Amino acid sequence: MNERGYYGEFGGAFIPEVLVATFAQLVEAFREAKSDPSFWQEYVELMSTYSCRPTPLTYAENLTRHCGGAGIYIKREDLNHTGAHKANNVMGQGLLVKRMGKRRVIAETGAGQHGVATATMAAKFGFRCTVYMGEVDVERQRPNVFWMERLGAEVVPVQEGSRTLKDAINEAFRDWVTNMDDTHYVLGTACGPHPFPEMVSYFQSIVGKEAREQILAREGKLPARVYACVGGGSNALGIFAAFLDDPVELVGVEAGGKGLDSGHHAARLASKDGAVGVAHGYKSYFLQDGDGQMRETHSISAGLDYVGVSPILACLRDQGRIRIEAATDAEVLDAFSLTLRKEGLISALESAHAFARAFKEVGNLSHDEVVIINQSGRGDKDIFTVADAFADPKWREFIRRKAEQYGA
Ligand SMILES: *Cc1c(COP(=O)(O)O)cnc(C)c1O
Repeated sequence: MNERGYYGEFGGAFIPEVLVATFAQLVEAFREAKSDPSFWQEYVELMSTYSCRPTPLTYAENLTRHCGGAGIYIKREDLNHTGAHKANNVMGQGLLVKRMGKRRVIAETGAGQHGVATATMAAKFGFRCTVYMGEVDVERQRPNVFWMERLGAEVVPVQEGSRTLKDAINEAFRDWVTNMDDTHYVLGTACGPHPFPEMVSYFQSIVGKEAREQILAREGKLPARVYACVGGGSNALGIFAAFLDDPVELVGVEAGGKGLDSGHHAARLASKDGAVGVAHGYKSYFLQDGDGQMRETHSISAGLDYVGVSPILACLRDQGRIRIEAATDAEVLDAFSLTLRKEGLISALESAHAFARAFKEVGNLSHDEVVIINQSGRGDKDIFTVADAFADPKWREFIRRKAEQYGA
């Protein structure tokens, strides 16, 4: 990365003039915190007492036997407080906000997971919290909206554009422009203007640091491959970072949706539909049409359907350091069920993308090799989607009765 936040040709900070000073302050606060060893110690201490760090590295004995080939280890980010690796990012930024002396945080959220994580952090640190969420998402993600509000956050339904995640991002920036003095924008993934990609992956790097130590302690050798799903790219960068200088193949898995030729997917790097552009304050690959308008995306997992992707991943992919694949919705449901039945792990549908690709490939590796799959989150939140996908009649009856109770 250069001093303007570029990774090769990707990244940068395309921000409105009024935010230049705010970003300069953030860059400086982050630089200063990073060079203070007590800051990382404070972060690790917080994550080990409030979340579940270090998260275990689980040997998946039954899946290994079932797939044949390399041994399968699973990094258990699902055991974090609020159910995913997102806690690493929000708690880290929370500590930084405290250091900067600000009292209010704002966030964008799509499925609501990052909103819940941010609202949780705000409750813990005593910050005021506003979460921007597309109106469409507010309607379809009621359980997360419910928890954000119970946690004390204000959830603002965004009525612009397609009323989804990208509109929520624009609205969060608008808020920041008017309230930059006491407000910090807690961006949810390793995207956005510099220093966010660097900062978010810095906090997430705790995942890879632990995983590398854990696998060396268990196996006395490095994994042949590490698999992670790719939405904005934060959990992938978090686990990949520790292995970048090792002879380890790093595989990122995007949402293949209904197939890469279907037009219904969110594969910015793995498909031919992604093109380089500038949006949401940074340069990277985006799913856009010929006129540069952002396309609609599709994925069975709400957390992988963002139109852009981390500039750091874009750069690593173009350099040939990482391999990017996609898993379709159908493959993901199979992998989800297999993980559940064989290991008793309810994986988030996002994480199940990484599982799906790994299951396809491990059989071609030898028995002396091992791979690590990053289970970025737990799948309890996906109960509605999964029940629908399997057309569970008893679940449908349960919902019908509930609706009746409310007089529907
Ligand atoms: C949000 C989310 C993702 C996608 O975000 P990244 O920044 O790509 O990691 C993946 N898995 C889970 C469980 C999530 O909640």
